[in-house]
Amino acid sequence: MDSKDIKNEKEQHFEYIVSACLCGEKTRYDSKISVSEKIKKLVDEGKAIMVCPEVSGGMSVPRLPCEIKNNRVFNTASEDKTYYFVNGAAKILETAKKYGIKKAILKEKSPSCGSRHIYDGTFSGTLIQGEGLTTRLLRMNGIEVISNEDFEKEV
Ligand code: SF4
Repeated sequence: MDSKDIKNEKEQHFEYIVSACLCGEKTRYDSKISVSEKIKKLVDEGKAIMVCPEVSGGMSVPRLPCEIKNNRVFNTASEDKTYYFVNGAAKILETAKKYGIKKAILKEKSPSCGSRHIYDGTFSGTLIQGEGLTTRLLRMNGIEVISNEDFEKEV
């Protein structure tokens, strides 16, 4: 997701960065669409800007699923895709800095956006405690990252 896609971006004050795939954007690896009405509302109200680190990092839709193993990111064909994930994380940090954003609501379990849990790198559906590469970089730069699952539970 390119921030140039957002209308009137210069006039907006964005409070949050949010994962684009939670707002109906076709950015997921499997190109499936899902919508969190609560998170999309933030975008519709001009409070949040949508981002997708993997698409910004140069990956296509659809793409093979990726998981983190030993601090690198591999797809199901055992290809090392770490470069795209690092590149994407840097682009999202740039966006956060550009708008002075201090909070992000990102999709849990993703190797980019996960904030509490990620898959263990075996493609067996096993979750472990951990965070995605974008979440890690944002947190290292003082940006609070909230799991979409936690945000959904908030009243
Ligand atoms: S979880 Fe993050 S990287 Fe994956 S599709 Fe959604 S926004 Fe993109």
